[in-house]
Amino acid sequence: MEQYANFIDGAWVAPSGGEYYQLCNPGNKDDALGSFPLSRAPDVDKAVTAARTAFAAWAAMLPDQRANCVYAFIDLLDKNVRKLGEVLCREQGKTLGESVGEVARGVKECRYIVGEATRLEGMSLPSERPNVTNAVVRVPIGVVAAITPWNFPVLTPIRKIIPALVAGCTVVFKPSYDTPLCGIELTRLLEQAGIPKGVVNLVIGRGSVMGDAISGHPGIAGISFTGSTAVGRRINEKAASHFAKIQLEMGGKNPALVADFSNLEFAASQICGAAFANAGQRCTAVSRVVVVESQADALEKLLAEKVAAYTIGYGMDKDAQIGPVINEKAGKDIMGYIESARREGATVAVGGNRLTGGIYDKGFYIEATLITNVTPTMTVAVDEIFGPVLVVIRVKDFAEGLRVCNDTRYGLATCVFTDRREYIFDFMQRAEAGMVHINHGSSSESFMPFGGVKDSGLGNFGIGSTNKDFFTTWKVIYTQFKP
Ligand code: NAP
Repeated sequence: MEQYANFIDGAWVAPSGGEYYQLCNPGNKDDALGSFPLSRAPDVDKAVTAARTAFAAWAAMLPDQRANCVYAFIDLLDKNVRKLGEVLCREQGKTLGESVGEVARGVKECRYIVGEATRLEGMSLPSERPNVTNAVVRVPIGVVAAITPWNFPVLTPIRKIIPALVAGCTVVFKPSYDTPLCGIELTRLLEQAGIPKGVVNLVIGRGSVMGDAISGHPGIAGISFTGSTAVGRRINEKAASHFAKIQLEMGGKNPALVADFSNLEFAASQICGAAFANAGQRCTAVSRVVVVESQADALEKLLAEKVAAYTIGYGMDKDAQIGPVINEKAGKDIMGYIESARREGATVAVGGNRLTGGIYDKGFYIEATLITNVTPTMTVAVDEIFGPVLVVIRVKDFAEGLRVCNDTRYGLATCVFTDRREYIFDFMQRAEAGMVHINHGSSSESFMPFGGVKDSGLGNFGIGSTNKDFFTTWKVIYTQFKP
């Protein structure tokens, strides 16, 4: 079994404590992925020191030269879409189509982001004194920590590392414990692209062991985190102790409200696409359908047909539409939620079981599941399940539906399906979410800002042009020309 290393100051190095952990393919436990470092605080400290040392030269590099280094990486990423997609499929479990699609999306987003190197615009303002020019310029914030989850193990790191590099920041990258291999492959491509030593550093291990050492490190100027709300809260506390900037992208309990919509077939297929992609393990997955009573029977029937038709299988299998969930613990948690729905009086209308036999015994595979007769206070209507489970809540009318949609601590993505212009307007104005989707499912685009409100997000939105506001800060310059 291959033993992997951290990447610090341009070299692949063993973790300070000499400890490792093993991982296997979540869709086939007989397929060993390798042995990975269990890093600790001293490894984090070395990585931060390397990134701080590299910062001055990287930040001083002309923006188009920095961009050229990143272009070299993008070309390599583009050449390796299929190869990296296969690694992703083996390591995370999503289908090969989804995996290759994720890497291709990464290429697309990189091509947008890299242009920001030469678009780091500032301001020029008239002075109140004679012969003085006032300017406000952007400068990189310093060393940035990129802490990422397992559900998009290629795309999420790209959304943090690449804009950081483009802005002139250096990086300490901590991938999820469950998906270090994608992090290693990305780092190898950055190394091959000639990114100078110390500019990107990779430390692998458990967030519960080394996370505080990252977010509490005084050498870290900013933390860009994607993951659960509980961990985001912890990072926020640690970052506050040394005034590090934060960009937190966290959980969701995203609703789709259906009210007076004539094309229910379209609504059902959009909702299912948004609910079951990546086995429902998406922060923006639709997990609650909120439907007016007058359309509920018809919509539930369509949803039930579509949910029952999903093929669950091994990610590399060309017929598979939904892969396994990430690991045994996540699978048990999801099954616990389905059980709670039964206990609390809801109806498991479709699915609801762990699959067994053949390949199903080599991972945690769960049927696509539809739960009806759900009330807004049931556990499955409140908690983020993060699995292939969709629940349906019936409401009297649009107004009650909007209230139910907003009645959550989360505020990431939200959808409405309606023909009525006044409902669209009301929803746009009053939906409590970072991203509002009207008459389609919750799928984001490559160049649009991405983020949430309430317990779903804090700090600058990522992905689009707003991302540079996180990785840069302002410097105000007064120049007297004729002293
Ligand atoms: P997670 O448990 O919060 O972990 C995310 C990352 O934080 C991992 O690298 C994890 O390391 C690390 N971590 C854990 N404890 C830490 C600590 N004390 N200090 C610093 N870092 C720490 O989330 P996950 O289970 O990987 O991902 C699923 C969650 O991510 C869901 O809630 C989902 O909604 C959310 N998510 C949000 C978005 C968004 O953009 N809003 C996108 C994708 C996912 P280990 O892996 O070693 O524990």
